[in-house]
Amino acid sequence: MTRLVIVGSINMDLVTLAPRFPAPGETLLGERFLTVHGGKGGNQAVAAARLGAQVHMVGAVGDDAFAEPLREGLAQEGVDIQHLARIGNCSSGTASITVAGGENEIVVVPGANARLMPSHVETARHLITQADAVLVQMEIPLQTVEATLRLAHAEHVPVILNPAPAQPLPLEWLRLARYITPNQHELATLLGADASEDFLRLMRRAPCPVVMTRGAEGAWFRDEGEPMRQPGFEVHAVDSTGAGDTFNAAFAVFLREGLPNAVRKACAAAALSVTQLGARGGMPRMADVDALVA
Ligand code: ATP
Repeated sequence: MTRLVIVGSINMDLVTLAPRFPAPGETLLGERFLTVHGGKGGNQAVAAARLGAQVHMVGAVGDDAFAEPLREGLAQEGVDIQHLARIGNCSSGTASITVAGGENEIVVVPGANARLMPSHVETARHLITQADAVLVQMEIPLQTVEATLRLAHAEHVPVILNPAPAQPLPLEWLRLARYITPNQHELATLLGADASEDFLRLMRRAPCPVVMTRGAEGAWFRDEGEPMRQPGFEVHAVDSTGAGDTFNAAFAVFLREGLPNAVRKACAAAALSVTQLGARGGMPRMADVDALVA
């Protein structure tokens, strides 16, 4: 069984469906309200657990009404939550999303995610040393991202950096990653390059191996030498929310099978995820991925 440590964010998405967006100062009657568990870290943890991995989550929730449901949501999926910190006098991460006429407006409050510190990662050192891979994204403080990269690298455990949301990083940090998994916009931002620069040139310029996701087109990957392409799997796409999270989780789970196989199965898992509504709704099981790649 693959053992993963995932260091990242956990959010409660508060989704309001409205007939239109309210004007400043206006109160409007909405049509529906729902809460959805999210955050890149939490989503990737759930996706990896569904694929049969043993997943240890390093993250943080607050001391509000969302804290317990968020913890429970992960535990019910089989994710180990012993290293989920509870931060006092702090809200859990939230994303308030208003959806109207096919558009959305989103306000994210990082809450406890912004209080996930390098010391929290350090307390999971014994799990990291025994892991097959570590996976980290950038919805947490960058000092914690750096600490994760340094610890895993020092312990010779492959660490995958999913550089989302896009922010520039010191190139020295990127060299600590076994792989980075950006889309084109994220890689351009990381490297301080122009977003219009050819994506294959961007990949060649990166100081570490890159797996670039390309939506329905699939993914390109480069360890040493020239970038190679894994075409996307043809599916009936319903909702692409969480495709990137499923891709990253599956890539980490299957990395032991070598780069081309891991990318192929990550594309298959992510393709399956877009066939259902919601970030976690379509996250597949191992047998579904095996059936698609067979
Ligand atoms: P997001 O942040 O919205 O989850 P992203 O930009 O990180 O997305 P994408 O490149 O959009 O990631 O998608 C990740 C992977 O999901 C792709 O590499 C591809 O394998 C798969 N995928 C996405 N959309 C489709 C689709 N319509 N059909 C098949 N596969 C898809």
